[in-house]
Amino acid sequence: MSDHPDLRVLDPATEEVVATVPAATAADVDAAVVRATAAQARWAALAPADRARLLRRFALTVDEHLEELARLEVREAGHTLGNARWEAGNVRDLLDYAAGGVERLTGRQIPVPGGLDVTILEPLGVVGVIAPWNFPMPIAAWGAVPALAAGNAVLLKPAETTPLTALRLAELALTAGLPEDLFQVLPGHGPVAGDALVEHPGVAKIVFTGSTSVGRQVLAKGAARLKRVTLELGGKSPNIVFADADLEAAAAAAPMSFLDNAGQDCCARTRILVQRSVHDRFLELLAPAVESVRVGDPSDPGTQMGPLISRAQLDRVRAYIDPDAPGIRGKAPEGPGFWFPPTVLTGVDPHARVAVEEVFGPVAVVLPFDDEADAVALANATDYGLAGSVWTRDVGRALRVSQAVRAGNLSVNSHSSVRYWTPFGGFKQSGIGRELGPDALTAFTETKNVFISTEGPAQ
Ligand code: NAD
Repeated sequence: MSDHPDLRVLDPATEEVVATVPAATAADVDAAVVRATAAQARWAALAPADRARLLRRFALTVDEHLEELARLEVREAGHTLGNARWEAGNVRDLLDYAAGGVERLTGRQIPVPGGLDVTILEPLGVVGVIAPWNFPMPIAAWGAVPALAAGNAVLLKPAETTPLTALRLAELALTAGLPEDLFQVLPGHGPVAGDALVEHPGVAKIVFTGSTSVGRQVLAKGAARLKRVTLELGGKSPNIVFADADLEAAAAAAPMSFLDNAGQDCCARTRILVQRSVHDRFLELLAPAVESVRVGDPSDPGTQMGPLISRAQLDRVRAYIDPDAPGIRGKAPEGPGFWFPPTVLTGVDPHARVAVEEVFGPVAVVLPFDDEADAVALANATDYGLAGSVWTRDVGRALRVSQAVRAGNLSVNSHSSVRYWTPFGGFKQSGIGRELGPDALTAFTETKNVFISTEGPAQ
């Protein structure tokens, strides 16, 4: 059998085949790098205002096709319609934001004797973005858009299960007037097309989002070529609820903090740490909130949670759960589709696999703690460090705990993690580097230092 069979895109809610997409080979990647290299040189030579204008037009084109992109995301990824609309809007907004950075991507002037010293931020060249299936559109854009704005060309390899929105975005880029070959999508298999991007000497940087195990391989292979690598890997994030918190609000917010996108979210708050004195009361409040989450047809605007992405993911999630384990269970449809009910496990050993590994499904554990020090120790007792939440009315405690938790994205009395204008990324095994935020474009540049002597030529 070929090592690059066509990609079969299934609707995760029905298991119907949505599309079959030819998979890119290593030779396709080679050819794409050659075209992208030429396109990048032309793109970088454009006036900054012209590049910014084209990116704004791309934003407008995405906006004009927002509903179409959202519906495509619902079909190929099983996302709820509300989420999918937000995701397409996130791509649009990031394009607008990054367009504003093109003319502001400035170097520095540094005082030196005998001349003038300036730094110049130059594009890297061709950037490879390897995207996952859990948020196919936004995560692809978080790499691709700032890279383009900083003057690079982008080769995007979407996940095997979700190539359709990426392909559509590349078409919309052309519609908007972006140059041919500047933003190319290479749908394909990770070990073939993804690996070819990582190994290619003509690709200056890889932005990878996915599993820690593949991320490690990408970093190791990139190291052999001294390639720049950004990794956004998994998470096992704590939601820390102190006894002095607004318990009703904390319990009302907890379900969607790990059930959004059926838990296939690297920031999902899947470790609910509750101070022992309010543990039972919190569970009383949490149970009805979890049980009432509406799970079903993702294209129904009232649905809060859809299916998992694939049978493989469903099997992976099932393998973590003992059906007889104590806890709270929601409902999920029967029949075709990759459904798993909202699940909260109680009485779990804090060292159990389900308590420390990323399940990437609608599953959380509740673990009691005694005091602030205990909460911090428990929060930090995983290999991951992507996100976390602290629920308390004590401002000092909120700050102390936010500083003590070893993670990249903390929120207090809230579960928000991602805004395109604030930095995002992980500590520890959750990744290397940051995406988004005010420095997003700089991450796709090399700094060149130029000294200009003001001394006359030697006599
Ligand atoms: P994965 O790491 O295998 O896939 C992510 C991307 O990497 C895909 O585009 C894939 O084609 C590509 N890829 C795979 N092998 C590659 C290789 N050798 N070289 C280059 N690229 C390669 O993830 P998965 O198997 O789809 O999911 C497994 C687990 O990973 C999930 O259960 C979850 O725990 C985690 N995950 C995390 C995120 C996240 O947002 N951090 C996203 C997806 C998956």
